[in-house]
Amino acid sequence: MVVGAGVVGVTSAYYLAKAGHQVTVVEKEGEAATLASAGNAGLIAPGHSFAWASPSAPKELLRSLTVDDTALRVNPFKAPGMAVWGLRFLRECNAERALKNTLVKLRLAQYSQRMLDQIASDERIDYDDIHAGILYLYRDPKRFEAGIKKMKLVQDHGQKQDVLDAEGVAEAEPFLAPVKHKLAGAIYGVTDSSGDSVKFTRKLQAACERMGSKFVFGRGVVKLDARGGKVRAATLDGGDALDADVFVLSAGVHSPRIARTVGVRLPIAPAKGYSATFPIRRNGGPEMRVGAVDEELLVAWCRIGDRLRMTSSAEFTGYETSYKEHDLRLIRKLATDLLPNAAEYDQGQYRACNRPMTPDGPPILGQAGPENLYINSGHGHMGFTMACGSSRIVADLIDGRKPEIPAEGLTLTSRP
Ligand SMILES: Cc1cc2nc3c(=O)[nH]c(=O)nc-3n(C[C@H](O)[C@H](O)[C@H](O)COP(=O)(O)OP(=O)(O)OC[C@H]3O[C@@H](n4cnc5c(N)ncnc54)[C@H](O)[C@@H]3O)c2cc1C
Repeated sequence: MVVGAGVVGVTSAYYLAKAGHQVTVVEKEGEAATLASAGNAGLIAPGHSFAWASPSAPKELLRSLTVDDTALRVNPFKAPGMAVWGLRFLRECNAERALKNTLVKLRLAQYSQRMLDQIASDERIDYDDIHAGILYLYRDPKRFEAGIKKMKLVQDHGQKQDVLDAEGVAEAEPFLAPVKHKLAGAIYGVTDSSGDSVKFTRKLQAACERMGSKFVFGRGVVKLDARGGKVRAATLDGGDALDADVFVLSAGVHSPRIARTVGVRLPIAPAKGYSATFPIRRNGGPEMRVGAVDEELLVAWCRIGDRLRMTSSAEFTGYETSYKEHDLRLIRKLATDLLPNAAEYDQGQYRACNRPMTPDGPPILGQAGPENLYINSGHGHMGFTMACGSSRIVADLIDGRKPEIPAEGLTLTSRP
């Protein structure tokens, strides 16, 4: 049984079904990919694997208590239960841990991108994917210089990253040519890509169903029932129970609550982000192709078919997913500054959703607590990028196969 049908749950189901298992996916919502997997920026970005817990993060979070312009924010009144998670996050905020955590994420992200490409090719899934790299844009020359230094780490570990001046940015993405004077330059993640995670997830659901997997929608798992060191069944919100031989927990930010019912503590906290989708404006000029991140506003965007998706902010404010016009200010600023003619901005669709963040950054994969309980949760800001690789690793662990990349730093027991 797989709990949760976001991109992580459905990719888990896929690899398990492929290995010959009879899979049932239980999903609280009415269809697959409706929470974090529906609101993301669509970037497949191993080049952006840097751990959020870094030496500069505490200062940024402290600043967010007094000023309004930071992308990373915490509200201690709205997120009072986060003390333990917060302390673990702070423990990771030194150069040595940040380096280690970044490399664990990078290795998984690189592997996962290969797995994603393979699934898309094997199952013939078109998910509005664009394989044209991602631009990490800088406006301020000093920050650009610092970004280039920081980028060397992922470059030294196999990511092809080019440094572009403003002219180079305009060449890589002619759509940005009219605003090149506002840019110091960019780091161009040449092999990064983008696509629609909802389309991908739902088409993969269909592939799972073709292999005989069952999807139970509109039923939430309330608790797991364990006896004799094994999970025997999952109790659903109607009161009935479903049994299975193996349980995979991939309920995103809600995994910790379910895991606690069998005594397993998962350090995963919600980091709220805002997501906007606009119809692309067609004006006869060059078409936007290359996804990007504004490294100063920390707004990310990409083209998804005939829509422009933009996302911003990471706020530790509890589980709620409300938003106000003011919360969209960074997206509005980016749209006005760099993409004024890209989309029909008066026809936006908006949402807020929660990234399932671990304090150190890498997701939690593998067995935990009862011998037949496996976790595949906590993919944070990179769950689309890391889903396929994570799910392949979890399926390998379930079947007793050695994963193709080391699981060190990904399982609960191999973390400090
Ligand atoms: C604003 C924003 C931008 C992002 N941008 C990117 C990006 O550009 N690239 C990238 O790689 N990643 C990005 N991410 C991260 C990525 O979207 C997430 O890491 C990923 O979607 C997590 O997938 P998931 O399946 O674990 O969680 P979810 O998509 O949240 O799915 C969890 C599922 O579990 C279900 N569930 C919960 N509780 C229960 C229960 N009790 N019983 C049954 N089902 C349950 C939920 O209904 C849900 O469908 C972004 C995230 C946000 C919020």
